[in-house]
Amino acid sequence: MTMTTIATTLIAIAELPYAYDALEPYISAETMHFHHDKHYAGYVAKLSELIEGTHYATMPLENIVLGSDGAIFNNAAQAWNHQFYFAQLSPKAKHHPTGELRRAIDERFGSVEEFERRMTNTATSLFGSGWVWLAADRDGELYILAKSNAATPLTDDLVPLMCIDVWEHAYYIDYRNMRKDAVENLWKVVDWSVIEERYRQVASR
Ligand code: MN
Repeated sequence: MTMTTIATTLIAIAELPYAYDALEPYISAETMHFHHDKHYAGYVAKLSELIEGTHYATMPLENIVLGSDGAIFNNAAQAWNHQFYFAQLSPKAKHHPTGELRRAIDERFGSVEEFERRMTNTATSLFGSGWVWLAADRDGELYILAKSNAATPLTDDLVPLMCIDVWEHAYYIDYRNMRKDAVENLWKVVDWSVIEERYRQVASR
C-alpha cells in the first residue's frame, strides 16, 4: 500500500452550487476560478492551519467567527463571507423579491429600486477592501452596512441577508477599476429566492 499525502482541511470547502462559467457574461469563469479556488479556498486553508490543535478546531465556522480575533477571525470571517456570497448567486436567479422581504424593503427603503441604488452606492463608495451587507435585526428591521476587510454583521448580533464583495479580487479581472459596473451587473445574478429564505430564518427565530 502506498502512503500518499492528502491535503486536508479542518473546515470543508463549499463547492460552487453552479458551474464556473454559469454567471457569464456578468462574472467570468476566470474570475470564479480565482475567486473560489484561490482566494476563498486560500482563506479556508489558512484558517485550518491556524486552528489546528486549538479549541477552535472542532467549532462550526460561524462560532469561530463569533469567538475569535486577529488572523483567525480574518480568515474565518473571509471563509464564511465567501460561502455566503457564492450561495446567493445563480444563473437562474429570481430577479425581484416578493412576500415578507419585499414588504420590509418597501417599508424601509421605499422601493426595491431605491434599495438597490443605495446598496450599489454604498459599495461604490466603500474605501478600500470590504463587504457591503444587507442585514436584519431580531425584529426583521433591515440595515445596509459597509464593513472593511473581513468584518461581518454577525458580530453586531445582526442576521446577514446578502453581501457584495468589494475586494478588488472580486471584479478586477472582468471590470478592472470599474467597481460600479461590477456591482450593477452583480444584481443580474443575485437570486432573491435565497435572500427571501434567509429572511424567513430571521422571522422564525
Ligand atoms: Mn472575495
